[in-house]
Amino acid sequence: MSNQLLSPIKRLRCSCCGEDTFGRQWYNRDIGFGLCHSCADRIEQKENFEYMERCYGVKGVHYYVTVPYQEVSIEKSKGSP
Ligand SMILES: [Zn+2]
Repeated sequence: MSNQLLSPIKRLRCSCCGEDTFGRQWYNRDIGFGLCHSCADRIEQKENFEYMERCYGVKGVHYYVTVPYQEVSIEKSKGSP
């Protein structure tokens, strides 16, 4: 067991479209990059489970995460006065 599952949910940039998204860092991704929901939906249509897990991690854990409301509001409040 690795500690990948325990890493915190962070704001990441989608490595596919560049949109901000939330997820956990996956060792096979560059630091700070993840996969957004819409790209996950799109890539899933043409790639299999093994590919998704190798490149992006576990769905719902590393990408496609449900972000707790509190974490979203903290992130948003940082940038605005
Ligand atoms: Zn994307």
